[in-house]
Amino acid sequence: MKLGLFGGSFDPVHLGHLLVAQAACEEVGLDRLYFIPAAQSPFKPGSEPAPATERARLLRLALAGQTRFEIDLQEVARGGVSYTIDTVRDYAQRFPGAELFWLIGADHMPTLPKWREADALAAAVRFIVIPRPGQVPTALPAPFRGVELHGFPLGVSSSQIRARVKAGLPIGGLVPAAVAEAIRNNRLYL
Ligand code: ATP
Repeated sequence: MKLGLFGGSFDPVHLGHLLVAQAACEEVGLDRLYFIPAAQSPFKPGSEPAPATERARLLRLALAGQTRFEIDLQEVARGGVSYTIDTVRDYAQRFPGAELFWLIGADHMPTLPKWREADALAAAVRFIVIPRPGQVPTALPAPFRGVELHGFPLGVSSSQIRARVKAGLPIGGLVPAAVAEAIRNNRLYL
């Protein structure tokens, strides 16, 4: 069984994330893909994300009806700074024998050697690297293993969406319609 693990802030989830997930399922043949919102990213120490309940609500709306995608709130439940190795160990324990893949956008690749317990992480998962517009393609740094996909490069980011909402600009076409409506109704990112 091939399991994909997709961690991130998802603040908010956008079409770039959904296309990453779709490319990983199609190109690697994942059986299941878990979206795993972080409580607090180690790489965004100064930033206060929207409450986890709101980010999870938007994820549920974005993934409605997608049977291969699931939402895992374990990092939110643990609280504090979220480290990938802790989450990967949980999956290795729960799914012995499964092939584990961790999805990242190409922008995160240079940071990999700085991730907590990098050697243990490199041994436990393979990485699926998805191209992201604006990123010069580089190889996975040793000792990390994995594949780089073609993906559907889309230059959209959560920070861009938050900035657009704050500026009163439309976000239709960048996030699923139900997510745009929930952001509006719950007055997020104003
Ligand atoms: P922010 O703009 O707030 O930094 P983000 O758009 O990068 O957020 P995250 O939730 O931090 O979104 O990203 C989770 C993962 O998804 C990361 O590995 C990131 O590289 C990847 N990702 C996000 N958007 C894209 C995109 N448009 N193309 C490829 N990968 C992406």
